[in-house]
Amino acid sequence: MEKNKLIRVEDLSKEYKMGEVTVNALKKVSFDINEGEFVVIVGPSGSGKSTLLNIIGGMDTPTEGKVFIGDEDITKYNDKSLTSYRRDKVGFVFQFYNLMANLTAEENVELATEICKDPLKIAEVLESVNLSDRKGHFPSQMSGGEQQRVAIARAVAKNPLILLCDEPTGALDYKTGKSILSLLNKINKDYKKTVVIITHNSPISKMGDRVIKMRSGKIVDNKVNENPISPERIEW
Ligand code: ADP
Ligand code: MG
Repeated sequence: MEKNKLIRVEDLSKEYKMGEVTVNALKKVSFDINEGEFVVIVGPSGSGKSTLLNIIGGMDTPTEGKVFIGDEDITKYNDKSLTSYRRDKVGFVFQFYNLMANLTAEENVELATEICKDPLKIAEVLESVNLSDRKGHFPSQMSGGEQQRVAIARAVAKNPLILLCDEPTGALDYKTGKSILSLLNKINKDYKKTVVIITHNSPISKMGDRVIKMRSGKIVDNKVNENPISPERIEW
């Protein structure tokens, strides 16, 4: 059976102009992602991963090319449509969690879902990221791993179409990083969310259903992985 395409990136280019200097962060990048896939985009620092993820998430706009989410080309969206797209369709997880320091774990999740169309129950999501007993804690009272769990809960509770994660283990120790990857795997399966993570750690790509390799703003490899390995069994 033909799988449903969810994301289609077509000839995407991004130039950053800084005075006299032009950086070509993305050079005619094209690929598809199917609904429900766990995708790992891997490449060295500076290869264009964050630029690509930010454009897919509607946080940045390309110089050229298209990004289809279902049938809709989000690069044609005006600011208002792009804002609703980011709010209702995209969950973002960052390397440094980006939680609100003056809000508790629960309040951080609440704030993100308040304006959403179709949010999930916050208590259930906190439970599924194993943080029911931390909901009254402030970010400064939590470990890095716990803060990242809150950030994942915040992204998932919006009930987005896609979950985009930029180096989600980048600030964490090895063991905690693995547990965060396992959690993202669980979210992908339990909530049937399409998950895209970017990383510079190539062994992490072994857990992907699809692995996209980037170098200098280009895709150098894009393969379906028939035998994804669970993060507990990957070493890096
Ligand atoms: P990665 O996430 O793979 O490390 P990035 O997408 O952050 O790569 O960056 C790709 C290239 O674009 C790098 O050369 C980086 O310096 C440049 N770049 C990224 N963001 C900006 C920006 N806002 N202004 C100028 N150059 C940028
Ligand atoms: Mg990056």
